[in-house]
Amino acid sequence: MSRTGGKVESKGTHARSPSNAPPKNEESIKSFEKLGICRELAEAAVALGWKSPSSIQEQAVPLVLQNRDVIGLAQTGSGKTGAFALPILQALLDKPQAMFTLVLSPTRELAIQISQQFEALGAGIGVKCAVLVGGIDMMAQAISLAKRPHVIVGTPGRVVDHLTNTKGFNLKTLKHLVLDEADRLLNMDFEQEIDQILKVIPRNRRTQLFSATMTNKVAKLQRACLQDPVKVEVAAKYSTVETLRQQYMFVPAKYKDCYLTFLLTELAGSSGMIFTRTCESTRKISLMLRNLG
Ligand code: AMP
Repeated sequence: MSRTGGKVESKGTHARSPSNAPPKNEESIKSFEKLGICRELAEAAVALGWKSPSSIQEQAVPLVLQNRDVIGLAQTGSGKTGAFALPILQALLDKPQAMFTLVLSPTRELAIQISQQFEALGAGIGVKCAVLVGGIDMMAQAISLAKRPHVIVGTPGRVVDHLTNTKGFNLKTLKHLVLDEADRLLNMDFEQEIDQILKVIPRNRRTQLFSATMTNKVAKLQRACLQDPVKVEVAAKYSTVETLRQQYMFVPAKYKDCYLTFLLTELAGSSGMIFTRTCESTRKISLMLRNLG
């Protein structure tokens, strides 16, 4: 929390990393400072255990600091959250104000993680965040908005809900917009909500769009909301190794459980991981497998 009544502390203060410990790794701190961010932010990055900027951070941070719109083709694991958060925090330090940034995320969980990363990187400078996601009481979120946060992270539906129903809340002074995981945002049919949000935020702002893939829909969104953007790209960190053998089976939905049990029995003795789409199917499969021993 801020120690200056809601204002972000200026560069002149010597706020330390969250642990209040002196910086340990001067070289690492310098490598982050080279991106163009101040020492407080560089120290916060190192305090998170980051030793040097990731490739997407190296490319994107200086561009945003130069006031450019950025398209980042990067996946989770690339350090993309730091890539958009660091220059925004730097810009916020340079010109502190409430409702400075809006980050749109496709899921609740991702929104919470993004807000945590903003708070961790901004811990030394008193950054305030609000998370606007579904499934959580509107009133509690309205109270956090009344505290005039610097950064709002949310899913499009709930952000529109607050813009429509929360008295006194608007984004007329917004300076930075981030569309995170844009391909997933669009796959989840948030197009209409994004359009509604774009209509009520200033055109004069910086925008960053991150996506794992550049689909037609993402390209269309890019044209609608970015100005003369620079594209940065990183090779996927977790691309599949060539020696991995991948197989699939087409089975009628009603026999899926049966085939799964067969496969697990065949492969008994080795470890396996099963990915499912919903909490409910996770629960059902684990019940079934437990009952089958
Ligand atoms: P993200 O791609 O933003 O989802 O980040 C994935 C993970 O990488 C998170 O746990 C971050 O804390 C971590 N991370 C981000 N930047 C760096 C960095 N420069 N060095 C090491 N880890 C990082």
